[in-house]
Amino acid sequence: MPSLNPSPRTAASRNADLQQRSRRHVWHPCTQSSRLDAAPPLPIARGEGAWLVDHDERRYLDATSSWWVNLFGHAHPAINAALRDQLDTLPHVMLAGCTHAPAVELAERLSALTGHALGYCFYASDGASAVEIALKMSFHAWRNAGRSDKRGFVALRGGYHGETLGALHVTDVAVFREAYAPLLREVHLAPSPDARGAAPGEDALAVAVRAAAALDALLAEQHDRIAAVIVEPLVQCATGMAMHDPEYLRLVRAACDRHGVHLIADEIAVGCGRSGSFFACEQAGIWPDFMCLSKGISGGYLPLALVMTREAIYQSFVDDDVARSFLHSHSYTGNALACRAALATLDLFAQEDVLNRNRGRAARILQGLRNGLGPSRAAHLRQRGMITAFDVRAAGPRFAERFHLAAREQGLLMRPIGSTVYLMPPYVVSDAEIDLLVERTLATLDAVAQPHATEACDVALA
Ligand SMILES: *Cc1c(COP(=O)(O)O)cnc(C)c1O
Repeated sequence: MPSLNPSPRTAASRNADLQQRSRRHVWHPCTQSSRLDAAPPLPIARGEGAWLVDHDERRYLDATSSWWVNLFGHAHPAINAALRDQLDTLPHVMLAGCTHAPAVELAERLSALTGHALGYCFYASDGASAVEIALKMSFHAWRNAGRSDKRGFVALRGGYHGETLGALHVTDVAVFREAYAPLLREVHLAPSPDARGAAPGEDALAVAVRAAAALDALLAEQHDRIAAVIVEPLVQCATGMAMHDPEYLRLVRAACDRHGVHLIADEIAVGCGRSGSFFACEQAGIWPDFMCLSKGISGGYLPLALVMTREAIYQSFVDDDVARSFLHSHSYTGNALACRAALATLDLFAQEDVLNRNRGRAARILQGLRNGLGPSRAAHLRQRGMITAFDVRAAGPRFAERFHLAAREQGLLMRPIGSTVYLMPPYVVSDAEIDLLVERTLATLDAVAQPHATEACDVALA
C-alpha cells in the first residue's frame, strides 16, 4: 500500500516504479513503444486546475487540456461535487427501457443551445462511436426514404474523425490510416479549406470559396450515391490545427441542400467553446443535420459522446417495422455519471461568462507568441478561439518528441503534431499562467533549436 503522505524520497521512487510497471502491462495509445526509453510516460499523481502533478511533486501545465478534453481544469470543485452526488444516487442504468434525469436534462439543454434546430440527442461513449452513429444514421435515414443507393460519404483531405474502422474510413491522416487501409471502404475526398493552402494573392476566404466549389462539383456529379458530407468545422485539429474561414461552412451547407446530401459536423474537438463560440457552426450561422460532440462535453472527466439531429430525421425512424428504427447501442450509452458531469460543465458556462473571458485569454496568448516568435522561427501563427498554433521552420527529425521532452523540463505538457506546435489550455488559465505558458513555450523552442541543449535534455532523462 502506498502511504498517504509519502516522503519525497518514496514519492520519487514511485515515479520510476509506475513507469516500470506501466512498461510491463499497459499498452499506451498513440505511442511508439520503441521510444519508451527515450520518452517514458509521465506518472501523474493528481490534477489541480490547469496543472498536473507527478509523484515527485513536479508540476506540469496541461497545455493540451489532456488531449483537448479538459475545459475547466482538473478536479474542479463544482464538477466533483455533482459527481459525488450522482455517485450516491445513480451511477448508471441502461438507456434502453429506462431513462434518467441527467440524460433527459442534458438532451433538453443541448437542444436549447441549438435553438431546438437539433432537437434529438443519441448518446454514446467515445468520439469515434459518435462518428459511427452519425454515418449509420445518415445512411439509414436515406434508406428509410427509399434511397438506399445513397451510401457513400464525402470527407475532407486532412480530416480526422476517430480510429474505429467506420470513423477511420472518413479520416485522412496518413499515420492513422495507412496500416489499416486494406480494411477500409472507399471514401470521396474533397480538398481541405486549410487557409495555409492559399496561392499567391489568395486569402483565407478565397481558399474557402475554391474548396467549397470543388465539393459542390463532386456533389453535383455523385449526389445520387452520397449520403453525407462530414466536416470538422473551423479547425481540422488532428492534422495540425488547420484553420479555415467560416464562409466554407455556409457554402457547404448550401451545396448539401442543393444536392440533397446530409451535413455531419464533427464538433468533437471544436465544440463546447473551444472555437470561441459554444458550437463552431454558430460562427457560420448554420446547423448541420447531425452534430457529433464528445471530448469537452463531460468537462474532461468521463467518456461521453452524443449525436444531435433534427426532429424530421428522428421522425423518419418512427415506424412499427423494426428494420426502420435505428439499430445501434453501446452498454454505457447515456451513462448517468458522465451526463451529470456534462450538466455541471454546462452550469459553469452559464455561471461564469466563459466565452467572453476566453476572448481575453486567447488575445493574451496570441500577443505573447507574436511578440516572442520571430518570422524566421515560425510560420502561420494562427488562432481560433482557445486554439493557437504555429508551424516551426526547420524543425528537424523527431521534432515533436524532442519538443515534448524539452517542454517537460520546462514544466509543460505539450505534444506537437509534426512540426506544428499548439497551445490548447483549459479555460481556467490565469493571466500569470498564460504568461508562463508562452514564456516556457518559447524557451522550449530555443532548447530544441540548439543541438547541444537537446543532448543535455536527453542525458537528463536517461
Ligand atoms: C478526438 C476526435 C475524434 C475521436 O474521438 P475519440 O473519443 O478519441 O474516439 C473524432 N473527431 C474529432 C474531430 C476528434 O478531434
